[in-house]
Amino acid sequence: MKRKAYTFIYYYLLFLIPFFSFAEIKNTNNTDWPLEMNSSKNFDVASKCEMLVFIEVFNEYDILSKYDLSLKVKVKNIKEQSVEKWKKETKKRILTNLKRLSNTSLKDLVIVRKGSSWALLSEIELQKILPNNFTNWYNSTKIFYNNYIKEQIRLAALYPRITSEILQFSKNEVQGHNFNDKSFLLTFDDGPTRVNGNTDKLINVLNRHELTGMFFVLGENLEKRLKTSSKKALNNLYGENKVYSHGKIHKSHQKYTYWKASIDETNTLIHNVFSTEDKNELAYFRPPYGQRNKALVAYFGERNSKIVFWNIDSRDWSSKLNAEQVANRQIKLMLLWRKGILLFHDIHSKAQKAVPLIYNYFKNTSIKWEDSNVVFD
Ligand SMILES: [Zn+2]
Repeated sequence: MKRKAYTFIYYYLLFLIPFFSFAEIKNTNNTDWPLEMNSSKNFDVASKCEMLVFIEVFNEYDILSKYDLSLKVKVKNIKEQSVEKWKKETKKRILTNLKRLSNTSLKDLVIVRKGSSWALLSEIELQKILPNNFTNWYNSTKIFYNNYIKEQIRLAALYPRITSEILQFSKNEVQGHNFNDKSFLLTFDDGPTRVNGNTDKLINVLNRHELTGMFFVLGENLEKRLKTSSKKALNNLYGENKVYSHGKIHKSHQKYTYWKASIDETNTLIHNVFSTEDKNELAYFRPPYGQRNKALVAYFGERNSKIVFWNIDSRDWSSKLNAEQVANRQIKLMLLWRKGILLFHDIHSKAQKAVPLIYNYFKNTSIKWEDSNVVFD
């Protein structure tokens, strides 16, 4: 009898495990938005609510002392100047983005007056105003922005000791916040992979959805691929997508003695393989980890080229996120920032699933997917 009882409990627990793990995923992610994403207006309503939760969490961080912030983001010597700069730029972006919302969307669900100040927006008690079926969304969104803002402030607190996409040295560096409202660009890093690997699979997915993007390749990986693929095959593979540089090897270019050689060699390689019009042109560059130095940035200025960062980071390299979670993260950040450059990695498989999920979610909302020919100026 006893053994039978144990067996029963064992099977009972086994049966419960999937439910527990599912509940965990749901709590930290947004599949919880209860309204349909089927119009431009509904994009705006969701966008407004994302921004309002973001403001709530931002303010919770804003009142922390230097000491508490340091503990929270786990950085010993916080670079206050950079944190303040990020805060200022972020507030400005959110206020500008709120002005882009249509009048009908401003009146829906939570009334927001056009041109409201940060202080006025901070007074809105979203949790009290939203109907009950928004509770799950609200709670998961709070957690989401808590993590996201922590992540962003941490990067700012380290800058420029450790550089990243968080702040720019010059206008020559593009992050995506200056795109037109509701315009988004797909970018993929670290490829190419071996023949029929993840790069090829991803490009197939893009082709099926009539999407194109920018691929920031590693010179080293392109050389490896050239041993088994002809130039023609590579041109056919990338098709309408654009191929730019991620440097020769995946190494921080901030204190790298050979940064210039890394850029020049990869540039020559790209011109050699792909049918580029102007062979003297310096291909756009995305520094590994977003880390670069002022001399590197100036070099691109002299050569009239750009350094291309991102403002919508999928974190698809993280083992903590599956493809659905990657998609949900990007969906929330697209609603928050309303424009910009999405970062994925074609060497991983998650983008193959995440990109279609994002594409289908926003299919009827009149957002624009930039094609790879977008020129930064
Ligand atoms: Zn990379």
